[in-house]
Amino acid sequence: MSASVIDLLATEARFGANNYAPIGVVLSRGEGVWVWDTEGNRYLDCLSAYSAVSQGHCHPKILAAMVEQAHRLTLTSRAFHNDQLALFYEEIAALTGSHKVLPMNSGAEAVESAIKSVRKWGYEVKGVPDGEAEIIVSADNFHGRTLGVVGFSTDAETRGHFGPFAPGFRIIPFGDAAALEAAITQNTVAFLVEPIQGEAGVIIPPVGYFTKVRELCTAHNVMLVLDEIQTGLGRTGKLLAEQHEGIEADVTLLGKALSGGFYPVSAVLSNNDVLGTLRPGQHGSTFGGNPLACAVARAAMRVLVEEGMIENAAAQGARFLEGLKDIRANTIREVRGRGLMLAVELHPEAGRARRYCEALQGKGILAKDTHEHTIRIAPPLVITSDQVDWALEQFATVLTQDFS
Ligand SMILES: *Cc1c(COP(=O)(O)O)cnc(C)c1O
Repeated sequence: MSASVIDLLATEARFGANNYAPIGVVLSRGEGVWVWDTEGNRYLDCLSAYSAVSQGHCHPKILAAMVEQAHRLTLTSRAFHNDQLALFYEEIAALTGSHKVLPMNSGAEAVESAIKSVRKWGYEVKGVPDGEAEIIVSADNFHGRTLGVVGFSTDAETRGHFGPFAPGFRIIPFGDAAALEAAITQNTVAFLVEPIQGEAGVIIPPVGYFTKVRELCTAHNVMLVLDEIQTGLGRTGKLLAEQHEGIEADVTLLGKALSGGFYPVSAVLSNNDVLGTLRPGQHGSTFGGNPLACAVARAAMRVLVEEGMIENAAAQGARFLEGLKDIRANTIREVRGRGLMLAVELHPEAGRARRYCEALQGKGILAKDTHEHTIRIAPPLVITSDQVDWALEQFATVLTQDFS
């Protein structure tokens, strides 16, 4: 590492809240699947900013839309209309088959907004006594970092010393429909769940789970809220991960790739009267639905479809998964994934996943460890077959080493 890089790391350490432990690489440029560090080394990005850069780094068409809009109008607040919002609504509704849209900024804000909306729906439409609404969530969930959201996390690190937390949440095991049935009461307004648990290590529920979940939610008039902030917009090889299960959520949450990584844009989508309960003054955000965000999101959705990224995610994801399964290494406990949302779980005896990620960095691949023993792999959806094959060679080399 050069002196200037060491300076940057020291300055970060001195001033920054120490709430991250990044891999020791300082990036300064990106294009498509590639990123470069300050010393000119090139890496294949196998994290894509947790799936926010699905369209590839600095996609030229999203960039052009952003620059063009930034020259005209960036922010009006929702006190006035802007000429991008209606078009954003129309296009995201058409893409996802939704009837109502609530634009926000970060993913966690979309989750918070959904919680507020389903509670209001519960009181005003379902007839739950005021203050009694219950929301069911899954163990090992990840829905963001706000206080409301971390209160129903089951991860000690995420919750520790941040309480007291808001009541009204019940936690059940992920992938267990019988547990959902047992947890539903007259006061249950929603089941909030990820189609595939990303942060937990790409945990895919049993076949048929979501069919049963959909049936139970419908039977008990419980809103099914799918957090597709990570799985949505093509990551799993379909536009929405719910399509793998042949179901439709009542409320869908999008974020991350909704802006292609240019700007925080999230949205709550609903196909019923949940969002219809909100009245002027009851919820909002200064930046939510601003013209710059809308223009960026419109371009991000357009290139995803026009450039066949969703189909490519399905094809390259299958290739990547097969390739990983073909690697014969004693370190590997399980390989799993759907589309380009993949994970390699190591045997506990193989040592920490972090060591393997550092070794991958040496081979020109940036990937992220999660939960000690899992390496997650989520490259931009524009990755080509040749790039997948090259990445597989690097994975094979690193995974056959022993860092225990
Ligand atoms: C990233 C993520 C969030 C939170 O999004 P932020 O933009 O970081 O607030 C919520 N849910 C899921 C499933 C996520 O992956």
